[in-house]
Amino acid sequence: MKVLVINAGSSSLKYQLYDMTTEKVLAKGRVERIGLDASILTHEVENKPDMREVSEILDHTTAIKKVIEMLVHRKFGVLHSMDEIEAVGHRVVHGGESFSKSVLINEEVKLEIRRLFDLAPLHNPAHMMGITAVEDNLPNIPQAVVFDTAFHQTMPKHTYLYAIPTVLYRKHKVRRYGFHGTSHDYVSKAASHYLKRPLEELKLITCHIGNGASCTAIMNGKSYDTSMGMTPLEGLMMGTRSGDMDPAIVPYAISKEDLTMNEINSMLNKHSGLLGISGVSGDLREVIEAMDEGNNNAKVAFEMYVYRIKKYIGAYIAAMNGVDAIIFTAGVGENSSILRQKVCEDMSFFGIDFDEAKNVVRSSEPRDITSDESKVKVLVVPTNEELIIARDTYRLVLEAIETEKARAEAETFKPSELPEGSD
Ligand code: ADP
Repeated sequence: MKVLVINAGSSSLKYQLYDMTTEKVLAKGRVERIGLDASILTHEVENKPDMREVSEILDHTTAIKKVIEMLVHRKFGVLHSMDEIEAVGHRVVHGGESFSKSVLINEEVKLEIRRLFDLAPLHNPAHMMGITAVEDNLPNIPQAVVFDTAFHQTMPKHTYLYAIPTVLYRKHKVRRYGFHGTSHDYVSKAASHYLKRPLEELKLITCHIGNGASCTAIMNGKSYDTSMGMTPLEGLMMGTRSGDMDPAIVPYAISKEDLTMNEINSMLNKHSGLLGISGVSGDLREVIEAMDEGNNNAKVAFEMYVYRIKKYIGAYIAAMNGVDAIIFTAGVGENSSILRQKVCEDMSFFGIDFDEAKNVVRSSEPRDITSDESKVKVLVVPTNEELIIARDTYRLVLEAIETEKARAEAETFKPSELPEGSD
């Protein structure tokens, strides 16, 4: 079965086409600047030249049409016909309290995603546009949605509630939801496999450190607490997001700087974090480069970034009464050996015996970066959110086919067909 995975943003759309027999990516690409002039489609296929096309793509329906054209293209494509695509899986950021696992899309699911627009105004409407665009281009194809929040629905009340009047939770669902759930779930399972220990016996701290960053405490395979909150702004310091801060700063900054709600929102999401402190960039590589060249603001930004990851690890060890393994993943977590080294520095108290030589080895496989004697393991586990979406979609479609087959069989079943002597 071929499954198309889609991650739709408001003006962009990323895609990967999987062959689920081999779990191989047949083609991938992105459409950028949807709705703006000079939209760009980039498309990659192994052993074929990369394709880049600039054209006018006014909406998501046209974007999906272009993607399909590319997938069946004589020169750049990988399919003979679009009928070969048998299912589509979408990444959806916010599933609120309604979704604790991936589901196939139906009218009810779409209605619920729309109800959640308020909680993720930048993301869920864009995902919905992606879903509608697929319906327009590939009518009747089964579609599934995989939520960033779903994995964290196991959090207990005392970790997900904020200490504010509960009326805000009851009326407006203000609570911690957590994000990057597909990634935390995937790397925790991969770690259990690597360690050859059942997930149900493990206490894990997964650190997904990319542009966005979050840490999760996972006990018995279940998310117990996570650093992102009602939105992906809370928690760790990120590329351009502030992470944790005193909420009183918001009204104070608004009054002192005469800011609007939009401006403060944009400041905290797009102009803070590594960028806000270093004044150089939100990309950790550039911050480290500037630090190495003697830029003191970049040095402070890096120290803050490291310190806050350390703080969450410490807090989660206390919350779980121990930890078996700490896992680094995503763009920074997988690639920055200096970040991992600094975070794990001076943690021998917890039983971490960090191995600097192992830390600098590069690999696309899960690996241990502690000594063999280390009581607590530190692992680097590459994440793959698209693969999880493809797998969930594939599983849900197969289950639906089985259910339908069983239903059809039950419907055609006639008691007269029973062999003689049966009850
Ligand atoms: P996203 O949250 O967009 O999915 P990724 O997980 O792809 O992010 O991570 C992208 C980030 O990873 C970029 O900000 C980039 O700076 C960072 N990154 C990639 N390689 C390195 C590296 N070697 N050192 C530091 N940061 C890196």
